[in-house]
Amino acid sequence: MKHAIHYTIIAKDLAAHLFAVSVVVDKPDPDGQIFRLPAWTPGSYMMREFAKNIVQATASCNGKKVKLIKLDKHSWRAAKCDGPLSVQYDVYAWDLSVRAAHLDQTHGFFNGSSVFLSVNGREDSVHLVDIQKPLDEGCQAWRVATAMRQLKAKRYGFGTYIASNYDELIDHPVEMGTFTLATFKAHGVPHDIVFTGRVPNLDLPRITADLKKICETEIAFFEPKSKQAPMDRYVFMTMVVSNDYGGLEHRASTSLICARADLPVKGKAEISDGYRTFLGLCSHEYFHTWNVKRIKPAAFVPYDLTTEAYTPLLWLFEGFTSYYDDLMLLRSGVISAASYLSLVAKANNNVLRGGGRHKQSVAESSFDAWIKYYRQDENSANAVVSYYTKGSLVALALDLTIRAETKGKKSLDDVMRALWRKYGRDFYQDGKAGIGVTDADVDALFDEVTGLKLKRLLDTWARGTTELPLSTLLPTFGIRYNDQRAATRPVLGIRTVREGLDCRVSSVYEKSAAHKAGIAAGDVLVAIDGVRVSVTMDNLFGRYCVGDTIEIHAFRRDELRVFKAKLVADDTPMVILTTEEKPSIAARQLRKGWLGNI
Ligand code: ZN
Repeated sequence: MKHAIHYTIIAKDLAAHLFAVSVVVDKPDPDGQIFRLPAWTPGSYMMREFAKNIVQATASCNGKKVKLIKLDKHSWRAAKCDGPLSVQYDVYAWDLSVRAAHLDQTHGFFNGSSVFLSVNGREDSVHLVDIQKPLDEGCQAWRVATAMRQLKAKRYGFGTYIASNYDELIDHPVEMGTFTLATFKAHGVPHDIVFTGRVPNLDLPRITADLKKICETEIAFFEPKSKQAPMDRYVFMTMVVSNDYGGLEHRASTSLICARADLPVKGKAEISDGYRTFLGLCSHEYFHTWNVKRIKPAAFVPYDLTTEAYTPLLWLFEGFTSYYDDLMLLRSGVISAASYLSLVAKANNNVLRGGGRHKQSVAESSFDAWIKYYRQDENSANAVVSYYTKGSLVALALDLTIRAETKGKKSLDDVMRALWRKYGRDFYQDGKAGIGVTDADVDALFDEVTGLKLKRLLDTWARGTTELPLSTLLPTFGIRYNDQRAATRPVLGIRTVREGLDCRVSSVYEKSAAHKAGIAAGDVLVAIDGVRVSVTMDNLFGRYCVGDTIEIHAFRRDELRVFKAKLVADDTPMVILTTEEKPSIAARQLRKGWLGNI
């Protein structure tokens, strides 16, 4: 293909975790072609400097070696050359996460942002990738899973794949190996689900059936009339490990990592909390296909992957997605209303537990995601609010307010669909990127769609730190808001982690008994009133009452210290949400509109 950028990638050394990559530019910049690797990857808001994993980059022009000069941590410039210019390099791939690249004898995985150098000034050219089969004998049965379009490759085969531009190239992660594969159609669109890792007795038919319901519900949510999905095919690629959780969204796929125990076992019909968590993760990443991959914050159009892209709107893109991920499990019939309400209560309790919500709005948390939410430390509970969890409650509070004030005629669903129609639906049409959403656009759209004046609420709930009025909003929907905190239970107000036989303090809650006593994160608790603390303190605490003063011995660094702490009542919120059996007719109507017939 004329003037396309050509890449090849091959798993070159499984044991050394190296992919060999080359990129060929037929008409390089006459002043010296610049190449660059992203410093972060869309969807994960932290500088990761993937260039640190590039090993030995060299350049050649017409087969003759030419100089490749490093300009900064992630940029290179090749010597002037008429072309074709080729750059070869190895990428060290040993990050078992959804964000970068991983390679060993069991599989290979990469995000384009970790392995493909962009060709400066040529980002809008067609990009071709020849994904080559590793030469190792053990890899001869390997297959390829990706949502990238095949040019000269069979479905699931090695060969040449094509992307319209660099942005698309790095938005289709690739998994290779002997993965478990299932397929289904959602409103006519083929979907694959791929599992890497050993999972005995995996109930694949059940996962497929549940995912189909969730995907069809989400497609119909955004396009109730046409039920038209925004992509031609979709791939869920899942890495199964003993204990991890995470996902990264892409325009036609998602990469997930999950705990083996969360996946359903053949012959067991109940929905475990772990399986509900897994489906919630799939639902979340799938919802992003619309919300953030097509409806985007203005700061991401286009993505500048060399530096931080600041947006105050992650509460909408991550928080609203977190609100709808569980709601879609309910609407698709995968979980019950009681199960859904327990998830809302859990999110509410999580937010109320952290003092960070008094100091940071979800808009501020969005903006500072790069240095705070993504780089949490021992003080985060006291200083940072999650734009995911609190953002989902802002969505809930807005949804309930709109439904109540319009007597059920409008809801947050209408706002999401309007965002979709105005910003998302045509985002990738005609080969050019659409426009992004600003704060002012959000304010205007909420009022336009609902006929209400919601700016004050958006300012106080999303851009301020005012408590959300869920305890008054939920009862108007026939939902009981019952705080059953254990006021007689004494607490110190710390979180601990087990380290061998040590019980180490990982966080100290502000204004807690531990804070007042002077205990700090990192202290290793040794004894309480002369009795050894072994791994956890739980069984010791049962012997004390609120108001008791205890003596704590702890090591700070390697010095033994003594603290006196006066135990206070546990004020950890423990909200339980249940449905009112005999709500008013108005409440019943509103509840039906929100949760369906329950
Ligand atoms: Zn997300």
